[in-house]
Amino acid sequence: MSKRDFYDVLGVSKGASSDEIKKGYRKKAKELHPDRNSDNPEAESQFKEANEAYEILKDAEKKAAYDRFGHAAFEGGMGGGGGQRPGQGFGGGDFSSAFSDVFDDLFGDFMGGQRGGGGRRAARGADLRYNLRITMEDAYSGLQKTINVPTAVACSACEGNGAEGGAEPSTCPTCSGMGKVRAQQGFFTVERTCPTCSGLGQIIKNPCKSCGGQGRVEKDRALNVNIPAGVETGTRIRLAGEGEAGMRGGPPGDLYIFVEVQAHELFERDGTNLYCRVPVSMSKAALGGAIEVPTIDGGRGRVQIPAGSQSGRQMRLRSKGMPALRGGGTGDMFIELAVETPVNLTSRQKELLREFEDLSEDNNPESKSFFSSVKSFWDGMKG
Ligand SMILES: [Zn+2]
Ligand SMILES: [Zn+2]
Repeated sequence: MSKRDFYDVLGVSKGASSDEIKKGYRKKAKELHPDRNSDNPEAESQFKEANEAYEILKDAEKKAAYDRFGHAAFEGGMGGGGGQRPGQGFGGGDFSSAFSDVFDDLFGDFMGGQRGGGGRRAARGADLRYNLRITMEDAYSGLQKTINVPTAVACSACEGNGAEGGAEPSTCPTCSGMGKVRAQQGFFTVERTCPTCSGLGQIIKNPCKSCGGQGRVEKDRALNVNIPAGVETGTRIRLAGEGEAGMRGGPPGDLYIFVEVQAHELFERDGTNLYCRVPVSMSKAALGGAIEVPTIDGGRGRVQIPAGSQSGRQMRLRSKGMPALRGGGTGDMFIELAVETPVNLTSRQKELLREFEDLSEDNNPESKSFFSSVKSFWDGMKG
């Protein structure tokens, strides 16, 4: 039996708010609670179904994954890891947290109703995931990249249908092409996938020698990918139809590129803004002046430091941050000053600083009053 849509299970519409989902679940839970349904044998499984649906839909992240991938989001085993090798199915725990919603509007929904339901003539190929690590500079400018994806492609010898010489496959005699067989078990009729044709509904008398009747073969495929400027870690890029070829001429799956932007040694990123700490000499911080800072575009920016700047002071360089992925301008770069105490002084420098120090004490009544207040505090403690 194919799995029911979670929204249907809770009796709410697809765009339901979290409140509506909660209400829908409460209603179903009351209706179906096993205590009130001792005479309804179906209630228990429906109750479990409602619980399962609510577990997913109440969690924003899981809900987003479900909205996008359907039940497939929580099936199969990818199981953490997430190495470079594509070809793993979606599913498992942690991947949904890596989602970015950035591409939602661009690509809309997909895979709607592809899963579940048997009796298909040709199975759709699996979606593939490819993890792509790029530098922050590349994320700034965008890039063209050729990636090699090991995947299953349609067999050229049989044109993907799996039969030697391209002969037509014949209808499976076991299930008469339904892909499913029924068996009587007590009072129940149980439906299961046909063991002869594995649910495809067709068999091949003379399998293609190149692909063993699969209709597809393993192959490394080079793909040209366009990574737009402004991507960040978690951005997904979908290449429709570039996933695995389907079984025996079925439609191909999609390829998803999951972007990971490496940390930068100078810049920290927050959305479109960049942050960096810039060391400034003590004298420049005191006197004021211009400093040059590196920018993400590979150039340099000039910042005017006001006299008397303290460590931690933040300055802004407009439009020197990251571009927004969907247009809408460029972020800013924020520079935090780190005033440095000079070290390894020459004797002349020491002399000047001592002189400076003497002058400061004379000229800075505030520091005098500070010391005298500390002194009177300690005197007070003793007294
Ligand atoms: Zn073949
Ligand atoms: Zn069959």
